[in-house]
Amino acid sequence: MRATIITIGDEILIGQILDTNSRYISRALNSHGIVVGERTSIGDNRSQIVDTLDRALAESDVVIITGGLGPTKDDITKHTLCEYFGSTLRFDEREAEHIRSLLAARNIAFNDLNRGQAMVPECCTVLHNAHGTAPGMWFEREGRVVVSLPGVPFEMQHLIDEEVIPRLKKRFDLREIVHRTMITFGIAESILAERIAAWEDALPDYIHLAYLPAPNVVRLRLSAYEVEGKEVRREIDEKFEQLRSIIPDNIAGFEGASVEELVHNILIERGETLAVAESCTGGAIASKFTAQAGASTYFLCGVVSYSNESKSNVLGVKMSDITQFGAVSEQVAKAMAQGAKVISGANFAISTTGIAGPTGGSAEKPVGTVWIGVATPDKCYAVLKNCGTDRSQIISRATAYAIALLYDELK
Ligand code: ATP
Repeated sequence: MRATIITIGDEILIGQILDTNSRYISRALNSHGIVVGERTSIGDNRSQIVDTLDRALAESDVVIITGGLGPTKDDITKHTLCEYFGSTLRFDEREAEHIRSLLAARNIAFNDLNRGQAMVPECCTVLHNAHGTAPGMWFEREGRVVVSLPGVPFEMQHLIDEEVIPRLKKRFDLREIVHRTMITFGIAESILAERIAAWEDALPDYIHLAYLPAPNVVRLRLSAYEVEGKEVRREIDEKFEQLRSIIPDNIAGFEGASVEELVHNILIERGETLAVAESCTGGAIASKFTAQAGASTYFLCGVVSYSNESKSNVLGVKMSDITQFGAVSEQVAKAMAQGAKVISGANFAISTTGIAGPTGGSAEKPVGTVWIGVATPDKCYAVLKNCGTDRSQIISRATAYAIALLYDELK
């Protein structure tokens, strides 16, 4: 079973919004055994819709379309689909009543545009949208299914979960797609690939391996498409067990758990505490931890000490060290971590000080230079990392490196 997702909206093409609908639909289809072969975004344009649909129907059993159903867009998707399937529009009294009651609750009069929303193609099954005014539509032709849904994410999500997936399960004999991900750390992708080459070569044909690298972390995902889930899950577990014996010291966990989630769980389990002192990451590390429910159990304090004065006044870094070695230096990174640990009373502290650019670099300390400090109950040290060339990349890499170093310590 193969599916194509088409998202319609000029706002997607100009980058005004992110196409999160495709991601949601991909996940939903995948978790029910439907392989997504293609995702396409197109403009609110009749001929583009027709051409894309032609191509999608030639390749897929199911096509899911979102967007372009609103009253202000002249219902372009609906009119186009109606014509495409050789149908005519009819007035749906039930949908009209629903739209009237939604509008009445907001003191808005039912007008001609809303009346237009209650018009649906004769040939489709109407998917009732309890959360909005544009209904979804289910079309069938020669054993293939085309579903059109509103673009508003929460309306689309309800319709996918409550209408589309149950109908697809009834309509098709779906098998399973299995994805399992192991997180490795502290080993570069190329070295990892070399170490596990024999293991990889011995994987059966229907299990595919993907490397997903991030700073200090490489995720290994094993996937099998349209299989008997139970058996394959067991087989993948066995493969991961073999992998554990090949790289026993480099496995951080399984599935989508991020390194900050692993750190979060370890600190809660051990009853230990954390503080952070950030310069170039500007609070990004603190927010990774505080975004997780339960962080108050261990997260004591985060200091964003951007200026030299704050490094000195708040964290107790010696001004003479800043003058002698520079704010971006091993000495200052260590002193920041130690300072955060002391002022908060935490067991562990991490710090960052670096040059995020685009200005401020020098031959000796180019943009991307970041010192990361780590203070533990019995030692304090700093590590130099080159975090790239682009400001946002440098911030996210430095954040990831700092959290991975902490994880290393906790392990
Ligand atoms: P409505 O009937 O409410 O007008 P619609 O079907 O016409 O919905 P659009 O007008 O295309 O849908 O989009 C409505 C809003 O939904 C957009 O302003 C946008 O914020 C959001 N949206 C649309 N498509 C997507 C998408 N693919 N991913 C995320 N958000 C989207």
